[in-house]
Amino acid sequence: MENQLRHLPSIKKIQDSQEYQLLSQKGIGEKYLTLLAQEAVDEVRQQLRNQTVTGSQNDIYNEVCQRFTKKASMLINSPIRKVINGTGVILHTNLGRARMSEQAAKQVYSAATNYTNLEFNLETGERGSRHDHIEWLLTKLTGAEAAAVVNNNAAAVFLILRAFAKNKEVIVSRGELVEIGGSFRVSSIMEESDAALVEVGTTNKTHIEDFEQAITDETAMVLKVHRSNFNITGFTSSVSRESLAGIAEKHGIIFYEDLGSGAFFDFNQYGIGREPVVENILQEGPDLISCSGDKLFGGPQAGIILGKKVLIDRLKKHQLMRTFRVDKMTLAALSAAIQSYFSGDHGVSENPTLNRIMEKSLLVKRRALLLLQKLQRIHGFACRLVPLRSPIGGGTMPDIDLESYGIAIKHKKLASQTLAWQLRKGDPPIVGRIHEDDFLIDCRTVTDTECEDIAAAIRKISSAYDES
Ligand SMILES: *Cc1c(COP(=O)(O)O)cnc(C)c1O
Repeated sequence: MENQLRHLPSIKKIQDSQEYQLLSQKGIGEKYLTLLAQEAVDEVRQQLRNQTVTGSQNDIYNEVCQRFTKKASMLINSPIRKVINGTGVILHTNLGRARMSEQAAKQVYSAATNYTNLEFNLETGERGSRHDHIEWLLTKLTGAEAAAVVNNNAAAVFLILRAFAKNKEVIVSRGELVEIGGSFRVSSIMEESDAALVEVGTTNKTHIEDFEQAITDETAMVLKVHRSNFNITGFTSSVSRESLAGIAEKHGIIFYEDLGSGAFFDFNQYGIGREPVVENILQEGPDLISCSGDKLFGGPQAGIILGKKVLIDRLKKHQLMRTFRVDKMTLAALSAAIQSYFSGDHGVSENPTLNRIMEKSLLVKRRALLLLQKLQRIHGFACRLVPLRSPIGGGTMPDIDLESYGIAIKHKKLASQTLAWQLRKGDPPIVGRIHEDDFLIDCRTVTDTECEDIAAAIRKISSAYDES
């Protein structure tokens, strides 16, 4: 081993390497390149000591250079990379939920690279409010009296509880105490906001009397929470919005609904789910509602708050609004997403989330056939068209899966796990799912141009395997 350690290259030798020179020419500072060269040498030294790496002097040099190049490329390439989503899950939380339109991207680009009227009233030349731009659009879209936007829906829930129910009581049905994606739990958020949770009813049944009986002088709010990622079926009953609005009004407390996803498009009308449209929900009487910007809405990460002006005005003035407010890029993207809904087709052609939820399975099939055609006769691979069902994801419409089509890809020798790994490692990375022995690409979440990328990746794996 001591012998092998002597084979470790000097920093000077790395600095003289072609790889180092190339990166230096790309404009990366010497300070950082030297630091990473040192790190690469240290790592390989450790591995030689543990005997997890052995080899000739040349092997060791190559190992150090490889590590160095990999690290150094991370100094220049975006860490947030484009990924091809072959999972079929339209709102895939791990893959960044909603994809945005070209128009949204353009508006973000302009906001990012220029000064903007974010908090400047161009009419009067005086200070303006960042809320105004988006509030106008949101009220037009939903008929709400007022609107505000915060960092995400979790922030909206927290802010609303903190602003209106701190040191007071909030009544929630036991059937709605949800945990979403393992990290958002209504009861925990409530605890952090210093609002006391009063649970009523049972998991499957809650009646209006349960709410009535729980109201005391300490009650600030009744909270309704959307059952985003689960469904209770069978012997169930819950209290209607009208009834909750009625008792809230009678007792002078706030009725707030956390909608989670929030549909701004009537999917129900097309037989997809039973999600009521936000505009209609507001008419059923909640004082406040909130939802995510990057779930069914199809915009950037944001928390959209809609409702009574007196309440929204208090939220806007709350100290915590400063901590949860969104930046100019989010506002630019969100405006574009809202604006997509004003078109004749209510955003279906422009908004990628709506577009893919609404896409007819026949069109998905056509895309799958296009991909299949590109994948035919690639050596070592057998591919076939398969009917699939794809969930919408992101904790929305838990009981819905859309009819879809995809391609099952199989290599004659490679295990599907290995194939999945090779495709993830590629550029762009391709993420699919494995079912039994097949690697599947669901074409509902893939674009036509991405079909070519997938075929190129498969061809590359094919020729690498043929050579070895
Ligand atoms: C998703 C969700 C949240 C959290 O929203 P984010 O935008 O992810 O912060 C809160 N409540 C419900 C019911 C949800 O479905």
